[in-house]
Amino acid sequence: MLPAIFFGHGNPMNALIENTYTATWRRMGLQVPKPKAILSISAHWFVAGTGVTVSTSPRTIHDFGGFPRELYQVQYPAPGDPELAKRVQNLLRPLAVELDHSWGLDHGTWSVLRHAYPRADIPVVQLSIDEARPATFHFEVGQKLAPLREEGVLIIGSGNVVHNLHAYAWGRHAPDPYDWAIRFEEQAKELMLAGENVPLIAYETLGADALLSVPTPDHYLPLLYVLGARQSTDVIKFPVEGVDGGSISMLSVQIGDVSG
Ligand code: ZN
Repeated sequence: MLPAIFFGHGNPMNALIENTYTATWRRMGLQVPKPKAILSISAHWFVAGTGVTVSTSPRTIHDFGGFPRELYQVQYPAPGDPELAKRVQNLLRPLAVELDHSWGLDHGTWSVLRHAYPRADIPVVQLSIDEARPATFHFEVGQKLAPLREEGVLIIGSGNVVHNLHAYAWGRHAPDPYDWAIRFEEQAKELMLAGENVPLIAYETLGADALLSVPTPDHYLPLLYVLGARQSTDVIKFPVEGVDGGSISMLSVQIGDVSG
């Protein structure tokens, strides 16, 4: 059974940069048995409804503004996998899942996969996050996707457990992480280690630290898909830790052993 992995993707520039985060993403890609395909749930496909990309050659989407030209030139030419898209559609029935031809791979997906799978030779399918649904829905979708792990599909969520762009130090000298960011990340880790999914799903009830750390749900929800795919025997690890710019947690969460 393949693991399921949540990546804290952080600043889009991580796509180009070699640092301790991206070096670890690369190592993680080498440690996991080679998947037949990757199903990615990215914070950056947060829309009305649930869709799954069905293109055989998903386009690289540069969904950000104000970054260096080099970042707009990045291509991640992984193939799609229409069969996997249809398998996802079937697994999630009776939920209506649209086979989507409009989206491709956004930077939540390719900024990480460019390091983890630099050859771009593994088919990638993206599943959207329905912005109108409550957190429980996203966890339950993750549960329904869990069988894919036994079918050679690597489920990845890409977001950030702590993601507050108002407090983020763009381009400035790296400040110390905010106390509330550290506290919420630690609380989330403890809950994950204890297998306590209920408070993680009800994160909005966890107090002021949670409200500052998750001011909008888009970057947090991909974590719930990965936690939903967790089986009772799965160990949990945090291959990447650290807070970038004071207010973005780079925490990665790996469900299940890589020795598989
Ligand atoms: Zn992002």
